[in-house]
Amino acid sequence: MTQSSILILGAGIGGLAASIALAQSGHDVTVIEKHPGLRSSTVGVGIIQQPNQLRALAAIGCADACIAVGYAAAYSAKHLDADGAVVRAIPGPRVAEFPEIAMNGITRPKLHRVLTERALAVGVSIEYDKTITAVRPRRDHVEVDVSDGTTRTPELLVGADGVRSIIRAHVYDEPVEPAYSGKSVLRINVPRLPEIDAILRQERLGDDGERIGVGFVPLADDLGYMYLNIVWDRSVRPDTEELRELMRSYLAGFGGPAGVVRDDYLDAADEIVLRPEEYLIAPGPWHRGRIVLLGDAVHAVTPNTAQGAALAIEDGVVLAEELAANDDLESALQAYGDRRYERCKRVVDYGANARKWEFDPTPDFDPVEEGIRMREAVVAPF
Ligand SMILES: Cc1cc2nc3c(=O)[nH]c(=O)nc-3n(C[C@H](O)[C@H](O)[C@H](O)COP(=O)(O)OP(=O)(O)OC[C@H]3O[C@@H](n4cnc5c(N)ncnc54)[C@H](O)[C@@H]3O)c2cc1C
Repeated sequence: MTQSSILILGAGIGGLAASIALAQSGHDVTVIEKHPGLRSSTVGVGIIQQPNQLRALAAIGCADACIAVGYAAAYSAKHLDADGAVVRAIPGPRVAEFPEIAMNGITRPKLHRVLTERALAVGVSIEYDKTITAVRPRRDHVEVDVSDGTTRTPELLVGADGVRSIIRAHVYDEPVEPAYSGKSVLRINVPRLPEIDAILRQERLGDDGERIGVGFVPLADDLGYMYLNIVWDRSVRPDTEELRELMRSYLAGFGGPAGVVRDDYLDAADEIVLRPEEYLIAPGPWHRGRIVLLGDAVHAVTPNTAQGAALAIEDGVVLAEELAANDDLESALQAYGDRRYERCKRVVDYGANARKWEFDPTPDFDPVEEGIRMREAVVAPF
């Protein structure tokens, strides 16, 4: 299929990436976003870009710009003891395009800026502060009512509207909803301490023997973020001061970078983000007629995989490839879903199983080794 009119709902990471890939292939692409302007769906904190994400970004002309404004690390991860000594360094797999880079850390606003500027440069039209209010599938187009009072008639409608997708209901008869892992993640931006030169995982044992872990991610030469995954009742919404005290209690007893952040930077953090960890793998096919889904709308992963954005970007590249390779739309959309499903399910399953293991540690599952295997699997070409 060439030069179709395509409407994408959602200017998140997946929607923007898909818009670029599709516009590069000659399609006429419009993106509709409910937020009022260029901004991330999650403000403030950062994204880990593993090598497969960089390769997908290279396909849409965005990898070098991300690396230029991010922090490219030579090691994937380092494990630290309670005092901050390195006990294990994991080099991580590479892709041929970026042999020196194990991961690139970038702030979400910077990633959004790179994707948005590239989308505009390749001719994508982005309409902010709007949503879709009705969808009526027709034989050779989709009739779409937009909140600005207009009706659009794209040949393909792409739902890139995240884990709470409203387009999903037009693809499945039964509700498809994400599951809560039982954990939420607390995150703050911190200065990039010299030791934060890879993803750091620092652990100590609590008084009753439970493992308390804290992580760090480099985002730029002078910026990083710290995260804590905590068992949490997601209906409870503490204010910033309560979140600060919660973080302080988890950081008690740590030396090394966790101790430095607790003592020197926690009081000054003005934004503390608490996000529930959800996961979802929607059954195939991921399309019905002229409506197709991508990104978190069909495969949300827990953040312990650091793969959600990567998979969403890959989706857009593969969708554009299959539209180019197939003469009819049905074959293209089926081929897209077929190429994506097993790869995405592997990552979703790893993340969910690693979280389940934390609640019930069984000897038959090693989350670190399984994580290394999952990351090696995703550097295989998509
Ligand atoms: C705590 C946390 C940490 C993470 N860390 C990483 C990481 O390090 N690396 C990584 O690769 N992934 C990470 N992820 C996953 C990653 O953020 C997501 O997988 C990715 O953002 C999915 O992109 P998306 O475009 O599918 O959805 P989203 O980013 O959610 O974008 C959806 C867009 O659609 C818009 N939208 C939604 N509904 C409507 C509507 N009705 N009308 C109009 N617009 C709408 C939203 O405003 C948004 O802009 C993390 C996720 C979490 C929760």
